[in-house]
Amino acid sequence: MTQPTFAPFIDGESWQDAGPADFTVTNPATGESLGQETECDRAAVGKIVASSQSAFQQRPWQKMSAAERGGLLLRLADLMEQQSEAIVETELLDTGKPISQLRAGELPLTAAIIRFYAGAADKVEGSIKSGTPGEVLMQMYEPYGVVAGILPWNYPFVNAALKVAPAIATGNAIVLKPAQETPLGTLAFAKLCVEAGIPPGIVNVVLGSGSVTGQALIEHPDVRKISFTGSTAVGQHIQKSAADQMKMVNLECGGKNAMIVFADADLDRAAEAALLSGFVNAGQLCVSCSRVLVESSIAAEFEAMLTERAQKIVLGNPRNESTQVGPMITRSQYDIALSYLSEATSDCNVLCGGSTADIPSPCNDGYWIQPTLLSGVRPGMKVHDEEIFGPVLSVVRFKDEQEAVSIANSVNYGLSGSVWTKDGSRGLRVSKALDTGICWLNTMLTGYPQISLSPHKLSGTGVELGMEGMLAYLKRKSIVIGIDDDAPVGWGLG
Ligand code: NAP
Ligand code: MG
Repeated sequence: MTQPTFAPFIDGESWQDAGPADFTVTNPATGESLGQETECDRAAVGKIVASSQSAFQQRPWQKMSAAERGGLLLRLADLMEQQSEAIVETELLDTGKPISQLRAGELPLTAAIIRFYAGAADKVEGSIKSGTPGEVLMQMYEPYGVVAGILPWNYPFVNAALKVAPAIATGNAIVLKPAQETPLGTLAFAKLCVEAGIPPGIVNVVLGSGSVTGQALIEHPDVRKISFTGSTAVGQHIQKSAADQMKMVNLECGGKNAMIVFADADLDRAAEAALLSGFVNAGQLCVSCSRVLVESSIAAEFEAMLTERAQKIVLGNPRNESTQVGPMITRSQYDIALSYLSEATSDCNVLCGGSTADIPSPCNDGYWIQPTLLSGVRPGMKVHDEEIFGPVLSVVRFKDEQEAVSIANSVNYGLSGSVWTKDGSRGLRVSKALDTGICWLNTMLTGYPQISLSPHKLSGTGVELGMEGMLAYLKRKSIVIGIDDDAPVGWGLG
């Protein structure tokens, strides 16, 4: 059977002959080919950005009110729910995520993000400031025009919504660039946008590698803002490239997040939270707490609780309703995680897992790694300091609050954290002391579109989510209006 060609999306249509289609997209659970992906070269990217620029500048986009754009987003969320099983199937093939988590987690979160920005679209307020009686001072917001949304492979559908919904709500056009390994969800998302009534060209998609297609997109002079989610190394490169043309950049990058468990915590709930955080999406989640810092007095007990439960985690075919953990999404990430494990297993104790897993047909050629628990991990070890982005949870012991905070903050990243204690003052004190963009206190990974995420340190810059995340898609503009014939001119010099 001939396999499909995944082609870029421009003006509401698939552009089939945009370039050579020689990259194979793979189902990570089975290793099977899903089809061939086109790579956009600089000229193809130029044509797609030109389409976006034209759609941005012309009717109907320029004539549409913010409330109407919000209405289109509401329709998009409704359509997504109506077609949820088709989307689940697409994401399952592309990413190998467990079907139950796609249905109960990713799809509802995506719809919630879109609905939040639908409601927020007409809530952007400018201001009037006081000046002299002869002048009125106005401050307002305007869209950038064409923005680039560069996506990672771990949550393609949610991440597309995270970029598209605020961009549309604020009246921009957006060009998405999915990771080369996972184009399916982003293409499906862009098609749904057109079905929802968003004018063709307002949401376009380029396909190809970061070094060719992504680089051409971020360097295009008509792209005035870049919203990037991915690794710290690529984020740093994008920020440097964007400096040449003074582009606005939003970077959501890596994390090496810590969960701190004090002896007085509800250990039962804390153990559940630790395993959820460490192993959801096989650990391929930027905000997951892959370090579990445990107070020494309860460490042995807590490690035993974690081990007993981790051994029962169901790893396997994502189509099975009972599956809790799926494969690594990309072959390269599988290799990276295994190389971390081979180094860590000589320095730490493996409480459970520690190697690849054999999953029966049809999944025998997938990228499987056992959920792995390590103890005896300390700052300075690679497994402690660096982001693995795989199903590896490291237990680190601490003696007191001060040491816990110091270990948690010892890494270069500052994305998320979680604190577990029944002492309310200490909980708040430690949550404040963590140098991270978000902290969950006695809870874990709950996601709300209304809460902003602003990464600290090498986890990124700027803000995503919440109202602030939407304002990040707008540039500021001030207008000073003279209303008296004898209004002063200049700085009082003339
Ligand atoms: P990545 O390698 O940095 O890639 C991210 C995206 O950037 C991909 O679409 C990639 O394209 C593209 N890219 C690479 N080089 C580029 C260039 N020169 N110009 C423009 N685009 C370029 O990250 P990943 O491996 O896909 O994703 C994993 C990382 O994402 C982890 O570090 C994780 O922590 C981070 N992440 C962070 C968040 C957050 O919110 N903070 C959320 C999810 C993931 P290709 O891959 O096609 O080459
Ligand atoms: Mg990549």
